[in-house]
Amino acid sequence: MTLDHNAQAGGPGRRNGFATRAIHVAGPEMLTADPLSPPIYQSSTFAFTQADDYSQALADPGYAYAYTRYRNPTTAVLESALSELEGGTDCIATASGMAAVSTILMTLLSSGDRIVLARELYGGTYSFARSMADRYGVDVAFVDSTDIDAVERALTDRTRVLYIETIANPTITVTDLPVLAALARSRGVTVVVDNTLASPYLCRPIEHGADVVLHSVTKYIGGHSDVIGGALVFADHDLYLRAWKTMILAGGSPDPFAAWLALRGLRTLALRMKRVSSSADALARWLEAHPRVDKVYWPGLDSHPSKALAERLLPLGYGGLLSFDMAGDRDAGRLFTEKTRLARLATSLGGIETLVSHPASTTHRQMDQEALAAAGIGVGMVRVSVGLEDPEDLIADFDQALAVTGAA
Ligand SMILES: *Cc1c(COP(=O)(O)O)cnc(C)c1O
Repeated sequence: MTLDHNAQAGGPGRRNGFATRAIHVAGPEMLTADPLSPPIYQSSTFAFTQADDYSQALADPGYAYAYTRYRNPTTAVLESALSELEGGTDCIATASGMAAVSTILMTLLSSGDRIVLARELYGGTYSFARSMADRYGVDVAFVDSTDIDAVERALTDRTRVLYIETIANPTITVTDLPVLAALARSRGVTVVVDNTLASPYLCRPIEHGADVVLHSVTKYIGGHSDVIGGALVFADHDLYLRAWKTMILAGGSPDPFAAWLALRGLRTLALRMKRVSSSADALARWLEAHPRVDKVYWPGLDSHPSKALAERLLPLGYGGLLSFDMAGDRDAGRLFTEKTRLARLATSLGGIETLVSHPASTTHRQMDQEALAAAGIGVGMVRVSVGLEDPEDLIADFDQALAVTGAA
């Protein structure tokens, strides 16, 4: 196989000029078997020999590759992998998690429609939904997704979408996917589940009745804090085609190299999710016993309200995100995030390095005081994304940071 042809414009013996030769270069002959790592097709467009194939490829993503905003072979490897792991029919990789959020909401909602969302929600999703209410006449309702009756009451005749997160952040609350999905589906409401915090290793929402699974690939799937990406996985091919049409016009397609990095991260997802789950377990139990800590939020703890649900929905582990409230001063939490030495103060989660943050001033800053309180997010809460370091080192780091913070 060659990656390009060595086209000669004239007959035998005629040599192309310098500029032409700089452009029309033959790729390497592939004498050996397939490369183990998928090639990065860093090409914006793809050439055809038949004009009919070209026009067909623009209309049907499964027919052929035409233009990278529509589909790209490297990106398609990531899409196949995520479809396979989530148990879906199709996947659209996107340039970010928010591109996935905006693509699916623009696909499913028109003005006058209603969407019901969990009130404890990723801040960007919350803001995007609010802007759909303010600017596009969508009726947006936020409900406590742990209150099944409240969700049921919110699902009116005009409701098109129920939007929930498998694990909500920063209270690390697990959502009852099977019950909510059955409820929504019985009313013809499309169920979109943001599965970013669980990853397909810990939970596959389509198995529990979701229509669409959404990921910020930036987090656990990429896993190395080096790429921004997103994905939508579909339980149904027709909805995939509708969303694909939105995506190519809204323009949220990923760069092939970003897709390649995400795929490289995905290879070790299982190992990383096991490790962060066991390290979070050790850290959560240690924090719970610490005199300066009031409360720890991790669904593997008996004290967490989601424990029973987590045992059913997350049989392989409870994930690497935990939060805690420090005793006393509400500013203590914020100060703590400046005093850790290994754990870095940064937004995002799901990477190899442990991160600490203060949700009220960072990830959830778009929520006002009232929305924060309603979602159970304390203003002094510290959120931890446990990384792959040795857990004893993390405990030592937290120990010294708690000591300094308490003394301040
Ligand atoms: C980060 C995140 C997003 C947004 O993803 P980006 O890749 O930052 O655009 C959406 N949902 C959740 C749960 C997230 O953590």
